[in-house]
Amino acid sequence: MSSVEARDRAWLREAVELSRSAPPSDRAFSVGCAIVDAEGRCVATGYSRENDDLVHAEEVAIEKAEAAGVDLRACTLYSSLEPCGARLSPRRSCVTRILEVGIPRVVFAFAEPALFVEAHGERLLRAAGVEVRAFPELADEVVAINAHLLGPVATRRNGSEHV
Ligand SMILES: [Zn+2]
Repeated sequence: MSSVEARDRAWLREAVELSRSAPPSDRAFSVGCAIVDAEGRCVATGYSRENDDLVHAEEVAIEKAEAAGVDLRACTLYSSLEPCGARLSPRRSCVTRILEVGIPRVVFAFAEPALFVEAHGERLLRAAGVEVRAFPELADEVVAINAHLLGPVATRRNGSEHV
């Protein structure tokens, strides 16, 4: 395993752990997010519904990093779930926010199933030139944390047979 892969996996696990802090909802996933700079320091974290009922984990973390004056153009964003490319609420998607602040690299565990919206986050990020890496082997834990939302259909894109 390369050192980059080991570091990615460790931070992604941290993001998955953060998702456990999200207040459960039957209308949205519990997601955790960590933003890490080029020196390997975590500059901001977030989880779903951390400061209001509709806020996404990535949104919270990006807001905190911006407030702290972090240059996000040299950071990697780790999210337990594929960042959303579309939302039911009128807010901007996490993909839009990631592109706005210039985050060049995104690592996630679980590809968002088409449960609430057709999100296409990974495709949109790649199309915009963002490096995207998925660790589907960590998806089972994300599924377990969101078990109240997910049936067998939801794991199809992640190649998991465990649910
Ligand atoms: Zn989102």
